[in-house]
Amino acid sequence: MDEVLNSELQTAVHRRLDYLDDMAKNADDPSKSKLADTAIPQLTEGFRDLLAAHDTDELGRCLSCSPRRFFGRVECKVWRSAHQHLITDADERATGGRHRLRHGQTTS
Ligand SMILES: [Zn+2]
Repeated sequence: MDEVLNSELQTAVHRRLDYLDDMAKNADDPSKSKLADTAIPQLTEGFRDLLAAHDTDELGRCLSCSPRRFFGRVECKVWRSAHQHLITDADERATGGRHRLRHGQTTS
């Protein structure tokens, strides 16, 4: 039963993301503006909730990704992904990729 519920939840979330992508690419400017007024706050609130679920303990371990019984530190993929999408990719878009190239990295 949980598997069915999880599958339905995942399908609904993916459909919503597909809808938002489609609107961002294909909608007219007034529709995009209306969408931004509602979707951006929803997405930022959802992102903050997700990051809160991956908050770190006093040793910097994400308790979701590094259970206490595990002594090593596992990098939190949620925080890594958030940084990639919100900071690194945004910086690259702003500089047209020049920042990474200037530092000898590839743009793949
Ligand atoms: Zn985590």
